[in-house]
Amino acid sequence: AALSDARTVTVLGATGSIGDSTMDLLRGARDRYQVEALTANSNVEALARLAKEFDVRFAAIADPARLGELKDALAGTNIECGAGESAIIEAAARPADWVMAAVSGAAGLKPALAAVDRGAAVALANKECLVCAGDFFMQRAAKAGACILPADSEHNALFQALSSGNREELVRVIITASGGPFRTWTPADIEQATLEQALKHPNWSMGQKITIDSASMMNKGLEVIEASYLFALSADEIDVLVHPQSIIHGMVEFSDRSVVAQLGAPDMRIPIAHCLGWPDRIVGPSARLDLAKIGQLTFEAPDFERFPGLRLAYEALRTGRGATTVFNAANEVAVAAFIAGKIKFGSIARLVEATINDWIRAGNLAPLSSADDAISVDHNARNRAASLLPQIALKAS
Ligand code: NAD
Ligand code: MG
Repeated sequence: AALSDARTVTVLGATGSIGDSTMDLLRGARDRYQVEALTANSNVEALARLAKEFDVRFAAIADPARLGELKDALAGTNIECGAGESAIIEAAARPADWVMAAVSGAAGLKPALAAVDRGAAVALANKECLVCAGDFFMQRAAKAGACILPADSEHNALFQALSSGNREELVRVIITASGGPFRTWTPADIEQATLEQALKHPNWSMGQKITIDSASMMNKGLEVIEASYLFALSADEIDVLVHPQSIIHGMVEFSDRSVVAQLGAPDMRIPIAHCLGWPDRIVGPSARLDLAKIGQLTFEAPDFERFPGLRLAYEALRTGRGATTVFNAANEVAVAAFIAGKIKFGSIARLVEATINDWIRAGNLAPLSSADDAISVDHNARNRAASLLPQIALKAS
């Protein structure tokens, strides 16, 4: 197709791990996609390099102090640029048919909503924004006619498998978990795990925050909540199954007892390619699945005691009334504290649990009335978690 027929796309979080996979797919089909905007947090050099390579219209950096640097890096091009949260939102609001939401954390919520509100097709990698906003994210999408395409591998698998039946025929969905680097570790060893150990994921290469979440299985907890909001499922309709090879990503069980699964190598370009091509399929660059070579697929029940984050996620989902927003906010604070060396690995879940309990005790649980409401709960919950941090750090030392 000529470039004038090209689909326009924007990538929020272009310099991250998901961003990198997305740019790789776009690179392989330059004639079919025109890149409207790219954003990054602070890496000006990587952002400017991508902006020039893809001849984008707009590049935005979240760190407001780096506007001068970005302007210098783009000097002599026609690429417009901006800095600060407002520039990231502007990037999302600019006309692009398809937007990849791959900022890490609830910081990605406002930009994702800006894309949703103008009715774009939004490939959603950023699970924290959905967990933070609760039902409101999907409501806003429905109102604006935006199509949410799940980019998280498990949810993308469910999205593909769900079309084998209707809502009445659905019994449950199953999302798989690799189990992370501590799958076979004792509680005492998990408690003391170092940052370096937590960053060694057996199957996937990902950003720092999600890699730590995978080690604590908070990631799977976030994904249970994500599945609930994306597909309007109750906690009882979502199961987690540990599957160390990460080949089956998600399954849907129907009333006739058929279980439909999606399989693929652990390569995020596969679910992202599905989102990019949707409703068609593109030719992906990933390796073909060779099951004979893999030999065995194994499964285990998840351990809610060694991985309390998973239990807390189900509890937050059942509690509702903003509890999942608090769960996510406290986890973001806890992960940052663990990276900074302020708390032990085992204290991540402890801080999340203490924050939720404190929140409930203070009588703060209340139904969210809008996404803005969720943003303010997120803000307050972060403050609560930060104030509980010193005592959690002491308790475990
Ligand atoms: P990453 O840390 O590698 O990249 C994050 C991107 O967001 C970067 O471009 C960074 O510059 C940008 N960013 C970070 N903070 C920002 C802020 N405050 N404002 C604006 N931009 C900011 O993370 P990732 O692994 O690519 O993950 C991105 C999202 O996708 C996360 O929500 C993660 O849970 C989800 N996800 C990732 C994977 C994976 O394989 N990496 C798989 C499934 C889901
Ligand atoms: Mg996932």
